[in-house]
Amino acid sequence: AGSGFDVDHLPFGLFARSGERPRVAVRIGDFALDLSVVAAADMVDTHALFDQPSLNPFMAAGPAVWDSTRAWVTGLLTDETERDLVEPALAPVDSVRMLMPFEVGDYIDFYASEHHASNVGRMFRPDAEPLLPNWKNLPVGYHGRSGTVVVSGTDVVRPCGQRKAPSDDLPTYGPSQRLDIEAELGFVVGVPSAMGERVATADFARHTFGVVGLNDWSARDIQAWEYVPLGPFLGKSFATSVSAWVTPLAALSAAWTDLPGQDDPQVLDYLRVEGPAGLDIDVEVVLDGDVVARPPYRTMYWSPAQMLAHTTVNGASLRTGDLWGSGTVSGPERDQRQRQPDARKPYHGASFRLDVCCP
Ligand code: MN
Repeated sequence: AGSGFDVDHLPFGLFARSGERPRVAVRIGDFALDLSVVAAADMVDTHALFDQPSLNPFMAAGPAVWDSTRAWVTGLLTDETERDLVEPALAPVDSVRMLMPFEVGDYIDFYASEHHASNVGRMFRPDAEPLLPNWKNLPVGYHGRSGTVVVSGTDVVRPCGQRKAPSDDLPTYGPSQRLDIEAELGFVVGVPSAMGERVATADFARHTFGVVGLNDWSARDIQAWEYVPLGPFLGKSFATSVSAWVTPLAALSAAWTDLPGQDDPQVLDYLRVEGPAGLDIDVEVVLDGDVVARPPYRTMYWSPAQMLAHTTVNGASLRTGDLWGSGTVSGPERDQRQRQPDARKPYHGASFRLDVCCP
């Protein structure tokens, strides 16, 4: 209790002990519980899902298997008579290597914080309205590069590219001078959908397995020069980090809250949501020991269910492992904004750590 990883959380991940093949684990406190070992010993009929090099087979199995697994693991960790089964399968998390937990299908990044979108609008288009006209009609997003999504802790090399300040006559090539972070929540698809099918906002939990912390590394100088008219490209595609542990939606059942309000303008029918569709999660951005920002996720304008419905409204299909980022989480207050860290500081050594913790 109190660790952020108690029995109410139970996130899933993928780990390997040296010289051994990867296995699916659940985190409890500072330990990884090897599910492949306990499932085989307990003769659980889904045990093969945990002796895998990614979470994808388990995520594809759907909500009934997710729920029965969570109930089984909760029993293992709370029933004293299970101690002899569980203890040999526990490994301290700092003694194992955490791997990329799932194979990423397609990667999308949204832009769902009104405060962030306004801040960026003022930064990139100082002479225009900060919000573009479509922003409150649809969740704006772009397709990113799934092949460069890496697990938190993986070194990220400072990207090189073209940059051109407005005062420069010509672009120059070199390392980005304005490498930035964007702390977001990432949502992971478990159950796929067929091409031509739409996923309604009400079906969000039938398709979505869970949530990760996500850092959308951004080279602002490259981005500012390249993004008109088609949006982010090389300023974003060099790396995206996600947390090693995936928090299942079931662990967030108490976090659902009302959206801040979508009355002006009203959204189209396919984007309507019933009941609380926002998430009351406090995000904390800590960089080399300093708290950079404490943005509240509950201030996000668009809900994850709306982002999923919008992604598929044209008939685009979902695959297991598809990942979408919420967009930078920013609140209205100064300490809830994500400020650009010191650009001269090298990020070599990847001290940026991402965890989704439940209170
Ligand atoms: Mn982003």
